[in-house]
Amino acid sequence: MTRKKLQQEFTQPLLSWFDLYGRKDLPWQIPRTPYRVWISEIMLQQTQVQTVIPYFNRFMQRFPDVNSLAMASEDEVLSLWSGLGYYSRARNIHRTAKLIKEQQKSIFPAGKDLLLDLPGIGPSTAAAILSQAFNLPAAIMDGNVKRVLTRFFLIKGWPEEAQVKKTLWELADFCMPQERCADYTQAIMDLGATCCKPRNPNCGQCPVQDQCQAFKLQEQHLYPTKKIKKPVPIHAQQFLTLYNEQGLIYLEKRPPTGLWGGLWCLPGIKSGECPMDFIEHHYALKGDKPESIISFKHCFSHFHLEIDAVSIKVYSMANEMKESAGRWFTQEQLSSLGLAKPTTVILNELYNSVLINKC
Ligand code: SF4
Repeated sequence: MTRKKLQQEFTQPLLSWFDLYGRKDLPWQIPRTPYRVWISEIMLQQTQVQTVIPYFNRFMQRFPDVNSLAMASEDEVLSLWSGLGYYSRARNIHRTAKLIKEQQKSIFPAGKDLLLDLPGIGPSTAAAILSQAFNLPAAIMDGNVKRVLTRFFLIKGWPEEAQVKKTLWELADFCMPQERCADYTQAIMDLGATCCKPRNPNCGQCPVQDQCQAFKLQEQHLYPTKKIKKPVPIHAQQFLTLYNEQGLIYLEKRPPTGLWGGLWCLPGIKSGECPMDFIEHHYALKGDKPESIISFKHCFSHFHLEIDAVSIKVYSMANEMKESAGRWFTQEQLSSLGLAKPTTVILNELYNSVLINKC
């Protein structure tokens, strides 16, 4: 199929559909600046639009531009990201904001190569910024686009396989118009989100149904091809909620990279390890008998963590704690910290219980 014919059969009907049904009032579309598009694109990775909207609005209220973000502390950025997950995204946007301030005089770059040099910006995010904020013909490749293209063109194979990925990028470039680039990018995302949904696609309302190969064969459910899943390993850990006689809670800051990088966490020990031995050995603390707070499972993409949380009212054995990797916080101070999700769950449970009120 020639580019011209493809654009007649895919791109043009999609743009006409967008004029009638596309989303034009999302918070990052009004106004559609490079900074706002960038933040929304990063937040939307692995996350639904409805979940992102309140986070985006709070973020924009506190950091309305790249300068305010660059000058903030990492803790403040992480605290506004708390709950969205994938915290390396937040650390990367903070680093990127600093680089744009220092190296680009706070002006967002409008070139693909410059964008790709920035932390956390890959080819699809760069294309989203170029097409949506600068109206340039750069094709994106998110989950919605993969679904629409694999179904429309009947592309077999897991979309992350090198050859399949290459084919999808070529088709995406082929479908991209030279004009109305911002509208087209939003249109294909909207089609994937509202019509060409993962389950039960609404083909009756689809503007490209006439030429959709999967629809012709009634094989929509077979595309995109799923990855063959390996079983996800399960690990177990105990989390210790140490509180002192003043009711202060002890938290430790994680190293900047890795799991929950840069976030504040409760100390974690091996499942089955004795909490009392641990606090005496590591912190020179003694305490009352541990009390169970909550047990739950926290799921990561590559493993599941079974968590048992206990609280211990502690007393110092010496003048100072033996290892002071962390700090003691009041309940009020906790709300301004970037906390790992399980830590938030455990602390909420603790404050809802009577345990902490015993001190
Ligand atoms: Fe998706 Fe159905 Fe449209 Fe094909 S016809 S692109 S499967 S919504």
